[in-house]
Amino acid sequence: MNKYDSGMVAGLLHSCGATLVADAAQADLVIINTCSVRVHAEERVYNHLHLLKHRKQCEPGFLLAVIGCMAQKEGQRIAARFPWVDLIAGTRMLDEVPALLQRVREGARTPLLAIDEKPRLDFGETQARRENRFLAYLAVSRGCNKHCTYCVVPYTRGAEASRPLAEIAAEARRLADEGVVEITLLGQTIDSYGRDLKDGTSLPRLLRAIHPLAGLKRIRFVTSHPKECRPELFATMAELRDKVMPFIHMPAQSGSDRILRRMGRGYTRQRYLEVVAAAREACPEIEFCGDWIVGFSGESEEDFGRSLSLLKEVRFQHSFVFKYSVREGTPAQRLPDDVPEAVKKERHARLAEAQEMISLEKNRARTGLTEEVLAEGPSKSNPRRLTGRTRTCRLIHFPGSAALAGRIVNVQVTGATALSLMGNRAGAP
Ligand code: SAH
Ligand code: SF4
Repeated sequence: MNKYDSGMVAGLLHSCGATLVADAAQADLVIINTCSVRVHAEERVYNHLHLLKHRKQCEPGFLLAVIGCMAQKEGQRIAARFPWVDLIAGTRMLDEVPALLQRVREGARTPLLAIDEKPRLDFGETQARRENRFLAYLAVSRGCNKHCTYCVVPYTRGAEASRPLAEIAAEARRLADEGVVEITLLGQTIDSYGRDLKDGTSLPRLLRAIHPLAGLKRIRFVTSHPKECRPELFATMAELRDKVMPFIHMPAQSGSDRILRRMGRGYTRQRYLEVVAAAREACPEIEFCGDWIVGFSGESEEDFGRSLSLLKEVRFQHSFVFKYSVREGTPAQRLPDDVPEAVKKERHARLAEAQEMISLEKNRARTGLTEEVLAEGPSKSNPRRLTGRTRTCRLIHFPGSAALAGRIVNVQVTGATALSLMGNRAGAP
């Protein structure tokens, strides 16, 4: 979501005459789009702000802005600790960044704080700056209505607000017309998309609405919530399998019912497994990606063992593993952070290692098979090779010319690591 927002803000500034430079050292304006999910992300921003103090002092006219979740949550404190920042704009003010910067240039008092000035973010028809011209993100909703006890998102991004289907479909059409071949729909709990609109709008309906777009070849969506995933979604994925990719990012967070209850996740391990089974029955090629939090308040070795066993039972294709980080203002802040850092670290390593073994086994089992790959562009390490993604979102490298970028090609898998596949174009010499 942050990458998408950054692209949108860059797009807005571009339409006001700004150009994006590759290196922050050459920029007259630096905007830091921030994340508050874990303390580590926040610490990195504070480091950047310290480092940029010198430039503010020596370069007249240099502008510095902090936007997004940390600005929303910590705006006042950032202004007090880092008075050299020019603009601090919260999550619903991102579409106002060019106008706010103009106010700074015209002499507004800095740091200019713009946090809760309006209820809704609206980028209108902004054309995002994208890292790859064939791939685009598209936000279908903002905020989150869940209250997982550890999570700061509902407080930084507010309640869930779905965008009307027609608006999303129009944005998807513009993207396809610009040559985008893969769209990734974004929502914190994407399966509940549309519920607040109360007009029958749903994720399956949205998939059906954008599926026919000419030029659009692939549709992905993140993030799924185990409590919200419905069988209708899997039936739609199976029916639209030519474009809707068989891949679901559905965080489990823990495999222990006791911890899931403490986290306020609203499902059990059994429910999680039932959702996986229903999805696999409807779409046999489907793969899962998971998020895990280790060392949450009260997590015993036995609880952790249940996460490890769930990971092995589901056989995820990939997992993101995080050490629990207490967030101010969340319900879990009142629970003891009682798993020692060394234990969190050790559990993190064990879970990540178990996942790596499974990823390696699953990737090796693809050897000899032919994958449908969307070629994304030349590989960063070797320009004679291309990088792409398979239907199940596996990264794959193969020899080929840059002219193939944006096309779907058949690639035969010749080798694998835990993180990627290697291959050759089927039929190529
Ligand atoms: N809306 C998505 C993602 C939310 S944030 C979802 O519900 O799945 C992305 C991931 O960060 C979460 O899935 C969770 O694994 C992790 N996370 C969130 N808060 C955290 C915290 N306080 N400490 C550690 N990890 C956290
Ligand atoms: Fe946070 Fe839970 Fe909402 Fe995800 S579903 S954003 S983890 S509150």
